[in-house]
Amino acid sequence: MDQQLVEKYDVPVPRYTSYPTVPKWQVNDFSVDRWKKNITMTNLGSEGLSLYIHLPYCESLCTYCGCNKRITVNHSVELSYVQALIKEWYMYLSLFNETPTIREIHLGGGTPTFFSPQHLALLIESLLKPVKRHPEYEFSFEGHPNNTTFAHLKTLFDLGFRRVSFGIQDFDLKVQEVINRIQPVTNVHQVTQWAREIGYNSVNFDLIYGLPFQTAEGIRKTMTEVKGLKPDRIAFYSYAHVPWTSPGQRAYDEKDLPSGDEKRRLNQLGQTLLNELGYVSIGMDHFALPSDPLTMALNQGRLKRNFMGYTESNGSGILGLGVSSISDLSFGYAQNVKSVEGYLSKIQKEELPLFKGHFNTPREIHTKSLIMKIACTRNIPVEALAGLDKEARAKFDSMVSEGLIERICADFHVTEKGTQFLRNICSLFDEYYHQGQGARVFSKAV
Ligand code: SF4
Repeated sequence: MDQQLVEKYDVPVPRYTSYPTVPKWQVNDFSVDRWKKNITMTNLGSEGLSLYIHLPYCESLCTYCGCNKRITVNHSVELSYVQALIKEWYMYLSLFNETPTIREIHLGGGTPTFFSPQHLALLIESLLKPVKRHPEYEFSFEGHPNNTTFAHLKTLFDLGFRRVSFGIQDFDLKVQEVINRIQPVTNVHQVTQWAREIGYNSVNFDLIYGLPFQTAEGIRKTMTEVKGLKPDRIAFYSYAHVPWTSPGQRAYDEKDLPSGDEKRRLNQLGQTLLNELGYVSIGMDHFALPSDPLTMALNQGRLKRNFMGYTESNGSGILGLGVSSISDLSFGYAQNVKSVEGYLSKIQKEELPLFKGHFNTPREIHTKSLIMKIACTRNIPVEALAGLDKEARAKFDSMVSEGLIERICADFHVTEKGTQFLRNICSLFDEYYHQGQGARVFSKAV
C-alpha cells in the first residue's frame, strides 16, 4: 500500500520555500524603484532581519550540481567580491528607515570555504559593524569537507557562528568519482571533529539520493558513516536531473541513474535507516535528532520555513546579498542577477543588482501563510477547505481515506504517514499549481 502511495504521489511538485513559487512570479510588474520604495516603508519590527549571502566560487565542478557557481582556482577574485557584498549591504542600509537588527546570517554557495578565513572575517565584521545583533541571533555556513580548515571553523566561531553544514552527498567512492567530488571519509571525520572541539552546537550533513551509480548498498554504507559521526541534522535530498540547465550532468548518461522505482526504493531505504538511527522527520527532506532545536521547534509548533529551508528563527524577512540571491520580505520577493560580471558591474554603478521579483497580493500572503503553516506545523485549519476547488477537494478526501491526513477535533492534521507527502498536501492549497504544472518546472515529490 505505501509503495503504491509513493508511486502515486511521485509527481513534480514545488518545495514551497516560497509562495508564489519562482516560476509563478509576476516579473512584468516588478521594478527596482518599486522594490526600493517598499523597503523604505517597511517596518522591520523587533524580530530581526536575516541575511543570506551567496559566495559563488568553487575550485572544481561537481558534475551533479544545480547551484549557481563559478569554477576557478584563482583566489584573487575573493577580495573584490567581498567588497561588492559590503557595498550592496550599505546600499540597503541607506534605504531602511531604521537600523536593522540581525537575526540570522547564512553563508551559502558555491563554496563559502573557497574564501580565506581573513576575507570571511572582513565580510562578517563589515556587515555587522553598523548594526546590532538580535539577542537570539543564529549564524550558519556551508562548508566543503575538502577545503574547510580549522582556521575557517575557528574564525567563524569567534564571529558568532554556531552551525555548520557539510555537503556529503554519498560516501560511496564510485558515486564520488562520477560526480567529481572525491571526498574521503577521513576528511569528513576531521572537519566534524574540529567543529565539535571548537564548540559548534549543530553540524548538518547534506545527503542526496538518486545520484548516478547509487545503490542500496551505497546508501547503507553512507548511513553507517552517518551513525558513527552522528550529525545533529540531515538534509536528504532528491537528485534533480536537469542537464538542460546544469550541463555538468551530461558527464554521465541517464541510464547511469537509478530508475524511478530504484530511486524511490533508495529514498525509502534512506528514510528507514535515518529513523532507525533516531532521526525525526522534520518534513520535506529534513531530519534532526530529538534533542535538536529544530525538532523541539516542530514539537512546540514554532517551526518556520523559508528559502534556507526549515528554521526555528522568527525573523522579519530575508535579504539576499550576492550573485543570484533571493530576498524574501513581507511585501514580496526579488532576485539578484546570476552572473558574477553582471553583479559586480551593477554594484560598481551603485545600482541594486536585481533582475526580477514579485510583489505579493493580499490573497498570496494569505495562501503563503497557510502553506507555511501546513509545512511547519502539519495542522490544516478546517476553514482552509472552503478555498479548495472541486478537484483539490476530491484529492484532499482521498488523502484522508489513505491515512495521510486525519481529523482531530475541529481541524485536520497531517499524519506520520502523510509527512513524506507534505509537498503534495501543500500543493492542494496552491491555486497556481493547478494552472498547468510542468515536469520541467518542479522536481518530483519523491
Ligand atoms: S556542489 Fe557545491 S562545491 Fe560542487 S560545484 Fe556545486 S556549489 Fe560547487
